[in-house]
Amino acid sequence: MCHQPTASKNMSSQTTNATSVFSQLNVFGHKKVVYCNDEATGLKAIIAIHDTTLGPALGGTRMWPYKTEQDALKDVLRLSRSMTYKAAITGLNLGGGSAVIIGDSRRDKTEALLRMYGKFIKNLNGEFITAEDLGTNTRDMEYIRMETQHVTGIPESIGGSGDPTPVAARGVYMGIKGCLKELYGNDNLAGKSVAVQGTGHVGENLVKLLRDENAKVYISDIDEERLGRVAKKYGAQAVAHNSIFDLDVDIYAPCALGATINTETISKLKCSIIAGSANNQLEDEQIHGSLLLEKGILYAPDYVISAGGLINCYSEIAGFSKKRTMHLTENIYDAIRNVLKLSKAENISTIEAANKIAEKRIADIKKIKTSY
Ligand code: NAD
Repeated sequence: MCHQPTASKNMSSQTTNATSVFSQLNVFGHKKVVYCNDEATGLKAIIAIHDTTLGPALGGTRMWPYKTEQDALKDVLRLSRSMTYKAAITGLNLGGGSAVIIGDSRRDKTEALLRMYGKFIKNLNGEFITAEDLGTNTRDMEYIRMETQHVTGIPESIGGSGDPTPVAARGVYMGIKGCLKELYGNDNLAGKSVAVQGTGHVGENLVKLLRDENAKVYISDIDEERLGRVAKKYGAQAVAHNSIFDLDVDIYAPCALGATINTETISKLKCSIIAGSANNQLEDEQIHGSLLLEKGILYAPDYVISAGGLINCYSEIAGFSKKRTMHLTENIYDAIRNVLKLSKAENISTIEAANKIAEKRIADIKKIKTSY
């Protein structure tokens, strides 16, 4: 679930003028922000709970050396809000939350700091459940687990759901198929060309699924050794990482960093579908969502297509079998198709359509129950 923190343009522009923490919470209707401070362990963390209409807020804990506390707050507010939307559109009974620990994960992370952080989560009595993110890993989740049960993404060996990346990749694969169905009337991948940017945990699993169905796959990665290994293993064609946007392919699958879809890359892209796992793919939701609509490129909104990791966490809490987890993940096919249909019917960008669907589910469920 990791990517470098980049404040979304929409969020940052709307929070720049906000003068207090309360006014920043009002921008997107955040419910609660908890500042965790412990001098003895050096813990400085912020937990943001955006919405709990659908269930307890679930989201990753990111550890990053933010330059300012304001940067950390912006990141956690943006991340927690997107978790609300991701859970809502995926049909999960989860709210949206997130946390950031201010510090360098290679230098400042200790067992004591993580366990103290776990105590703060415990004090929230289940309103917030966490998982790993950039700068944290399954080992860290084990430390947090020593203080609170409200943590997921722990190793299979101690009763967790284990590696979420095959599930995340399966979701992306189903999302790609949903896009193909909308565009061509069938979801066959055989003979289609796909450019996968990033052959890390999710990317490699995706390449395998695509090659199993005889898609022509181009791959790029800044890690040359990894690139060569994945190309050889699955019969994919390696390309230089700076030439990925020049390829004449049917599908571009961003599986590396965020913000790769911007004015410059959109002018180069020749694909008819963008569908990948990376978080925050659009540099600016409104501007680039609309540009893609104008250009006739189907964009599978990142938070919809990349929900496999969250589904994996949800299954861990709910005690679902692997089979049920995969079944839930396959629903991403229909979720994407619903988004594309609404976008077409109302001539709005796919990200706008996804937001509408997510907001409608939250509003509908609000009618039948009070907050968690
Ligand atoms: P990862 O770190 O394992 O892989 C990322 C890969 O991208 C690495 O191999 C890296 O070398 C490569 N890369 C970095 N910059 C690049 C560039 N400019 N061009 C080409 N390759 C580049 O990460 P991951 O777990 O596979 O996740 C990939 C993306 O999917 C991230 O944005 C992540 O937030 C998102 N995501 C992950 C999960 C999950 O379960 N891991 C779930 C949902 C979304």
